[in-house]
Amino acid sequence: MTDLETQYNQLITPLRAAFQEGMTHDLAWRRGQLDALERLLEENEQSILDAMHRDFGKPPQEAFMAEVAFVISELRYARRRIERWSRRRPVDTPMVGQPGRSYVQPEPLGVVLIIGAWNYPVQLVLAPLIPALAAGNAAILKPSELTPHTSALIAELVPRYLDRKAVAVVEGGVPETSALLKLRFDHIFYTGGAAVGKIVMQAAAEHLTPVTLELGGKSPAIIDRDADLKSAARRLVWGKTLNAGQTCVAPDYVLISADQRDELIEHMRACLEDMFGADVIDSADYASIVNQRHFERLSGLLQHGRVAIGGRVDHERQRIEPTVLVDVDQDSELMQEEIFGPLLPVIEVPDLDRAIGYVRSGDKPLSAYLFTKSDASKQRFLSEITAGSACINDVIIFMSVPELPFGGVGMSGMGQYHGKAGFDLFSHLKSVMQRGRWPEVNVRFAPYSAFKMKLLKLLG
Ligand code: NAD
Repeated sequence: MTDLETQYNQLITPLRAAFQEGMTHDLAWRRGQLDALERLLEENEQSILDAMHRDFGKPPQEAFMAEVAFVISELRYARRRIERWSRRRPVDTPMVGQPGRSYVQPEPLGVVLIIGAWNYPVQLVLAPLIPALAAGNAAILKPSELTPHTSALIAELVPRYLDRKAVAVVEGGVPETSALLKLRFDHIFYTGGAAVGKIVMQAAAEHLTPVTLELGGKSPAIIDRDADLKSAARRLVWGKTLNAGQTCVAPDYVLISADQRDELIEHMRACLEDMFGADVIDSADYASIVNQRHFERLSGLLQHGRVAIGGRVDHERQRIEPTVLVDVDQDSELMQEEIFGPLLPVIEVPDLDRAIGYVRSGDKPLSAYLFTKSDASKQRFLSEITAGSACINDVIIFMSVPELPFGGVGMSGMGQYHGKAGFDLFSHLKSVMQRGRWPEVNVRFAPYSAFKMKLLKLLG
């Protein structure tokens, strides 16, 4: 064992003991932890917003909306339902099991590991923590090292508010996460890119630990022939400038017919000016790129198309103007990898058929968007495109519905959380059957006979 592994082993041992003793199973304890988490967010709102601003200039209003308020609303939603979700869930017992009662009893898993990504550095560790605690687990949180101020703040606040016997924070990057992954957890919840997702899954396989992988991908936005272009432009601009496009469910690219393309682009230009004024790159309402590596990567992608809007970059401040690209090189990284930044390729396709075919030829996206007025188009889009989530006539905003399970499919991830889906994800749904002792139906016991066989067939 390396020093780090020994250190983390010492960290996990008391958490496991607290879980084994049943401390985290208690409903009052679970509710108390959610109350404490709410206090943590409310009493430290300003420091939380400041930390994210220092990390990559995340605008406070965006940070409030997509991180603090988002987590509080998930938390309140869960707290109101925690008792109902924890109850046994009765199911029918067939004749062969009578007299008897059957039900599903959710039970906590144990100690879970939550590894977060940097783009929503508070939401991505605390939103999964809510169902983990609500379901009665202990947890270790590993925030992203790419947002060090937020990571340090989480490491400072969590032990001040939450029960140290059951929740711990480990800060660090690859060496720390690799050491953590050597330990046995009861579930690993990972948010980030697919390459690291594979590393996490391989490490988990060593202990047969179940994993949830919240990954990314290229989420398409299809503009149908009858779409309201002005409304589509406004929502696409919002989705691509929120967090400077560094959002897992941001629209990655647009598919549109050639004769609508320029009109959509003109609407986008007007929306950008409306929202950010003449100089978006200087706007305080617009985030920076998280680090130099991502800044260079995104700047490099600009060469793979013709700039229709934007295109300015500021090396000093790691900022990239929201940029619409046309005539893009389909074989370049721009169209082969998730963009994860404020670049929006607009690609011409003749019709919905071809748009759907285009999306289907790639990996299943985390989210898929369609702008249309036509019910027939909606129907086709929903039945022919598989994606983690789908949203019609808007982008990203579906995340605010707690009853919609959130997660990817195929290369965009596995497992879903938010609302009850999160509670179930962090629970084992134990099947229970309780039998009466009398009367005893002998048909299942040897010696078998033609009569018993007949009876079995009759009973189904
Ligand atoms: P990241 O660099 O912050 O990495 C994610 C986590 O993995 C971090 O905690 C990091 O420390 C850890 N990590 C990195 N390298 C590792 C290694 N070699 N071994 C073990 N752990 C390691 O984030 P990222 O990967 O740049 O995240 C961006 C990706 O995440 C995008 O693809 C985006 O779409 C996706 N994402 C998905 C969601 C979702 O909910 N589905 C949300 C946000 C981001």
